[in-house]
Amino acid sequence: MTTRRTFLKSAGLLAAAAAVVNPSKIFARTIGAPKTKGVKEINLEWCPFEAKMKHVFTISGSSRSTTPIVLTRITYDGFTGYGEAAMPPYLGETYNSAMDFLKKARPVLKTFKSPFMIGEIMEKIDSIATNNCAAKASIDIALHDIVGQMLGQPWYKIWGFNPENCPYNSFTVGLASHDEVLKKAKEADAEGHLIKVKLGMSEKQDKMMIDTIREVTNTTICIDANQGWKDKHYALDMINWLNTKNVCMIEQPMPKLMLEETGWLTERSPLPIMADEACQRLSDVKKLHGYYTGINIKLMKCTGLHEAREMVSLAQALNMKLMIGCMTETSVAIAAGAQIAPVCEWTDLDGNWLIANDCFTSSTVVDGRIQPKDAPGLGLTMNKGVNLQFKAEE
Ligand code: MG
Repeated sequence: MTTRRTFLKSAGLLAAAAAVVNPSKIFARTIGAPKTKGVKEINLEWCPFEAKMKHVFTISGSSRSTTPIVLTRITYDGFTGYGEAAMPPYLGETYNSAMDFLKKARPVLKTFKSPFMIGEIMEKIDSIATNNCAAKASIDIALHDIVGQMLGQPWYKIWGFNPENCPYNSFTVGLASHDEVLKKAKEADAEGHLIKVKLGMSEKQDKMMIDTIREVTNTTICIDANQGWKDKHYALDMINWLNTKNVCMIEQPMPKLMLEETGWLTERSPLPIMADEACQRLSDVKKLHGYYTGINIKLMKCTGLHEAREMVSLAQALNMKLMIGCMTETSVAIAAGAQIAPVCEWTDLDGNWLIANDCFTSSTVVDGRIQPKDAPGLGLTMNKGVNLQFKAEE
């Protein structure tokens, strides 16, 4: 106990030092936030936010131009942390389900004396109701933002990850016409990213996408079939063809329930096979071992950074490859995902570039690689002119 108290005390001193050194940053984060210096109560509020996509986005099965998001704000003893629940419709969460969950979570958070106990807090939050993973992640992300600020460090540093190890980030080219594919591939290439291509339509359409991209660039391609291939022999033929086109990996080639068939495919595939739809939470990782080469972690599926960090450790222990992905998200959730980037083989954190009204700034992409911001917590700065009305009801 003595050690823990000493630790908390020094953490407080560090945070105080940060406040002295960087008053403008603290101010930018706390605009509109209630004054809580000296109030040691975890106060959760939220604000629905409609992310407007720059372009209509099409993947196998759906098209859309907006994404519902609920942003969260946690205040505690003068600190302010932000979180986010991004809810593409196919995941089953809505503005109402998220805000109902947050209403229930608010009094639970108040029962904890400090935001430092993230593990115990998230266990309690997780037990409020099943599913609601994005809503849970919005609490987890805000807790990490605030605790990182109290410690005066970003999470990738607290975890001891080396930001120089961040891989090239991928930029998604959705299902589109020949001309659109060409345009997007050129854009991605110019920025130095890998290109991520959504396949899983007809063989003709899938091969047209790849050949079209190869007309303009030989940049490495990541494939996401979104469970689109239903036959393992067809999938293997496609992968062997893709292997001649400078493709580096295949995400979710077959339906998530076709585990045995996927294991057959992974054994024969010349390219790594990554689980996305099949991998939601920590408990899935062990089940997928031996069937997939690795896992795609997404904070909105796994309830946030606390569980994501546990998935990283387990996957590493099982010698599985790691990737971090995202939904259409603002820079809040992208900045959280970026903390994990240094230990991943691939990062697919392009959600904030797909939206026209991002409300924060944090991590950046430098020469095609995502770089988490070297600033306390998630390193978020609210963009100029953004006016978010956070509120809470119980
Ligand atoms: Mg995917």
